[in-house]
Amino acid sequence: MKIEREIEDFDSLGENHVGTSSETPLRADAFKLTKEEKIDIIKDDVRHIMETLGLDLTDDSLQGTPNRVAKMFVKEIFGGLDPENKPSASTFENKYKYGEMLVEKNITVYSTCEHHLLPIVGKAHVAYISNGTVVGLSKMNRIVDYFSKRPQVQERLTIQIVEELQKVLNTKDVACVIDAKHLCVNSRGIRDTESSTVTSEFGGKFKSKKTRREFLDYIKLDTQF
Ligand SMILES: [Zn+2]
Repeated sequence: MKIEREIEDFDSLGENHVGTSSETPLRADAFKLTKEEKIDIIKDDVRHIMETLGLDLTDDSLQGTPNRVAKMFVKEIFGGLDPENKPSASTFENKYKYGEMLVEKNITVYSTCEHHLLPIVGKAHVAYISNGTVVGLSKMNRIVDYFSKRPQVQERLTIQIVEELQKVLNTKDVACVIDAKHLCVNSRGIRDTESSTVTSEFGGKFKSKKTRREFLDYIKLDTQF
């Protein structure tokens, strides 16, 4: 009875997209297996799911799917679980003494909802105010991409991006807003194709109304080329 109750609770937690921690919940033995060993195991698991659904895996079109999905899980869409893939933390001295906010907006987010394993697709807008250290612009995109490549909850993704940049830049003055569509909401369940989810995390100076307003105004700018 108790176990049934717990399973029900976990189900509703996931269905409501509630996360439990700002850290990705990883097992202690998460990196004991090599990538190749993981692909081998997952390949069999995917085959098992497909066969259980009644699919004929001797069909030419389906034969390669288990291996393809396993490789995609380990090396691509969940590659951000592996700390080996974390972008290196190279920073530069702020030689030109630029003291205003720097905003990198419209960074494409491709992530995966950890409750349904369906895509989350959207845009991230990241900003910081340098206290003497700067990063290359593409570094911000790479950090967004690294944390996106995990089973995710959008709130946690937003916090992880901010915390990582705070560490790299050695300042609390970092902010991130993510606006994303969750295919588990858009294509199934409530099937609302129009709605998107906005999450934000404001650190240090971005907690002040004025600085936050400035950041949000930059995001609204419609950049034309
Ligand atoms: Zn979901």
